[in-house]
Amino acid sequence: MSNQFSNEIVKMLKLLFYGMIVVVAILALMFLKNGVELYAKDLVPIFNNTATKDTLANKITKTETPEIEQDEQNKQLSKSETPLPQFDYDTSKWLDILDVIPDAIVDIRYATENNFVGKQMYECGRCFMRKEALYQLALVQDYLRGLGYGIKVFDCYRPRPIQQKLWDKVPNASYVTPPWKGSEHNKGLAVDLSIVDADNKELEMGSAYDYFGKEAHHDYYGHNDTILDNRTLLKTTMETYGFHPIRTEWWHYSYRGIKSEIFDWVWECPDQ
Ligand SMILES: [Zn+2]
Repeated sequence: MSNQFSNEIVKMLKLLFYGMIVVVAILALMFLKNGVELYAKDLVPIFNNTATKDTLANKITKTETPEIEQDEQNKQLSKSETPLPQFDYDTSKWLDILDVIPDAIVDIRYATENNFVGKQMYECGRCFMRKEALYQLALVQDYLRGLGYGIKVFDCYRPRPIQQKLWDKVPNASYVTPPWKGSEHNKGLAVDLSIVDADNKELEMGSAYDYFGKEAHHDYYGHNDTILDNRTLLKTTMETYGFHPIRTEWWHYSYRGIKSEIFDWVWECPDQ
């Protein structure tokens, strides 16, 4: 019993001894830390001295800044080496189809004599739309590409002065929207288009583009199933992405996602 008791006492004394060593060690560390801080406090006025600061700043400028500047210059150089796309139109409003859908087939008929007035109306054929509409048309193209097809556009934004010229040639509201009323084309929201296959061959749609007769109407069902299916593919795809058809022209769709005014702007023609 007494042996056991003295063993316990020895154990406790050992614990106490080790405990004290730990406490002394902690105190020693705290003292050292305070000492360093006190020493650092004494150094602060030296660093606050303007002359010392300036010398330091000079040193930093001389050693580190040039490297940073060099880095920036390198970045600038590599940026300027990458040619930025140049736009000759107001990209806050418009987009050229080929800047967004580079694989779209563009056959602007009013830039040729192959149209219902038989006269060239545009100086050159470019397809512009309000950018909101063109982003949606890009989704149409993505979807059709997935099926092995693509879009072919015949007319997009049509400047009001051209609408006037069309009206002067054909002053008949059944064929040409009066310029004072303004067509969706004059707002940059309408597109006339068809679908092409993987070889860029137009799918059969039952009538030529700009054919004014009942065979061009959506509610004319005298066509064969292939034609009706092709039209349905165009119509359902366009409608899915926010475009609306008109009853009498299978090729005409207008985007209703935004409102737009009528524009007079005529696009630039790149030098031939
Ligand atoms: Zn149209």
